[in-house]
Amino acid sequence: MAKFNENFLNLKESYLFSEVAKKVKAFQDKYPERSVIRLGIGDVTLPLGKSVVKAMHEAADEMGSADTFRGYGPEQGYDFLREAIAGYYRSFGVELDPDTIFVSDGAKSDTGNITDLFSKDNTVLIPDPVYPVYVDTNTMNGRNIIYTAGNKENGFLPMPDKNVHADIIYICSPNNPTGACYSEAQLKEWIDYALANDAVILFDSAYESFIADPELPRSIYQIEGAEKCAVEFCSLSKTAGFTGTRCGYTIVPKGIVSKAADGREMSLNKMWNRRQCTKFNGVPYVVQRAAASVFSEEGRKEAKEMTAHYMINAKIISDTMTKLGINFTGGINSPYIWFECPFGMNSWEFFDFMLEKTGVVGTPGAGFGKNGDRWFRLTAFNNEENTREAMKRFETLFEGK
Ligand SMILES: *Cc1c(COP(=O)(O)O)cnc(C)c1O
Repeated sequence: MAKFNENFLNLKESYLFSEVAKKVKAFQDKYPERSVIRLGIGDVTLPLGKSVVKAMHEAADEMGSADTFRGYGPEQGYDFLREAIAGYYRSFGVELDPDTIFVSDGAKSDTGNITDLFSKDNTVLIPDPVYPVYVDTNTMNGRNIIYTAGNKENGFLPMPDKNVHADIIYICSPNNPTGACYSEAQLKEWIDYALANDAVILFDSAYESFIADPELPRSIYQIEGAEKCAVEFCSLSKTAGFTGTRCGYTIVPKGIVSKAADGREMSLNKMWNRRQCTKFNGVPYVVQRAAASVFSEEGRKEAKEMTAHYMINAKIISDTMTKLGINFTGGINSPYIWFECPFGMNSWEFFDFMLEKTGVVGTPGAGFGKNGDRWFRLTAFNNEENTREAMKRFETLFEGK
């Protein structure tokens, strides 16, 4: 028998969403007459914007006509989309070379696939709690992972420790699950640390469109030095409701270079291009047309309306936390509200308690790393009526306490 990749044995079984689903089903079987409100899932609920759907229809018609049909497209994405993305970055003051923009089927694939470009011998620094993909993909490759703790003291925004060396650093800002968002000054510290360590930052900006505070950076390239050390991953999933449509983009600057053991210069941009051309054949034309329409004036307006809708829910939830005196992060520049479990419970105890008493479903923080053990995530991805009702029920947990 072939030898399998035994690093897979080191993956922790992810019980999170299956365990949540199992518990919700048991609740519904036990109380068929009670209503369940789901504020647990990190998936959008609003449909695609009208101009996006129109662009998809038009592109589908093009594909059905001999003179406009398209076969394989460029692996890096069509120019019309790369230019639209560059135009979007220009709107907040970042000038990108279109050759550094790579269109993909989403940020999850790219944050995992980028590990192809790095040797096994690197030390990877990952915040805890965070989106589990970074840990799992590096575990599959057998890389040494060290963690930097997010906690109440640092507001879930861990800062670099000069006494610890790392070669690859993951940053997710605004963060999933904590909703915490780094300032320019904080990201500058990370960039300085990366440059001092000859490290590469892998920056996940999937939630940039939720940033309302104009002082907070939407892209790591708003900070000097990032073009020499940072790769940025973004996606239309949360920005424009593309979780089921699938389109993202990764920016790999030409300034990220390293010397090979034999002295030859290696460029991360060239390597990523080679990797994509070898293993990827591009995003469907229809989807790229839909994605480009998100960056049009009309498309941006629609996307803003979607975000605004979710942020009303985020405010309802965060106002409830404030009112009840519960410690939380997020909810302002993020669709996530991350709060400390009340009554001294851990996150699974609180999950069971809240479900039993109120029928409201959230996500236990333990699923995002050990520092999440006593924390809990609620999401703004629902409608306003359900969110209000969920918070009304949530408040009843505190009556008489
Ligand atoms: C949702 C999400 C993404 C987006 O993933 P896609 O594959 O583009 O849908 C990326 N990073 C984080 C942290 C996310 O929560």
